[in-house]
Amino acid sequence: MKNKETPKTAEKSKPRGSVDLYAAQCGKCLKWRTIDTLEGYEEMRSRFLEDPFFCDKKPNVSCDDPADIEYDTTRTWVIDKPNIPKTPTGFRRELILRRDFSKLDAHYITPTGKRVRSRAEVAAFLKENPEYENVNLDHFNFTVPKVMEDTIPGSVKKKIKKNLESQMENVA
Ligand SMILES: [Zn+2]
Repeated sequence: MKNKETPKTAEKSKPRGSVDLYAAQCGKCLKWRTIDTLEGYEEMRSRFLEDPFFCDKKPNVSCDDPADIEYDTTRTWVIDKPNIPKTPTGFRRELILRRDFSKLDAHYITPTGKRVRSRAEVAAFLKENPEYENVNLDHFNFTVPKVMEDTIPGSVKKKIKKNLESQMENVA
């Protein structure tokens, strides 16, 4: 799973700092393969430990084919924990990278468009909306992926330093 800063012309539905491309690493050849949809990615991730990813899970792809994508600094990579439950139908799980690239924040969007940021908020929503009483609270997971520090753009690191310096000047 990886994250790239969204260009300004990108679709408006995607907030700044959200993940725009999903990938899985083959357990045999270690090449990275892109996963076309969030749904496909969540499905794969939900049972990754008992059912690891291999190249031939993608149609017409084998370990002999070149990697879809390389782990390098052209993008910022964030690495997910395995076996996070699939997002319940009607809900959407979002991950947003903080501006300083320090970490991601996870939240869910409910079918009514409400943003929920913790298990307690999900529980309250399910209680207030009995039509979702069959939705399992355990299927909400706020575990966030790890930001791979070696792929954070140098410009971001410089900017943080510069902001700190200008703040100090203002104080002086
Ligand atoms: Zn492979």
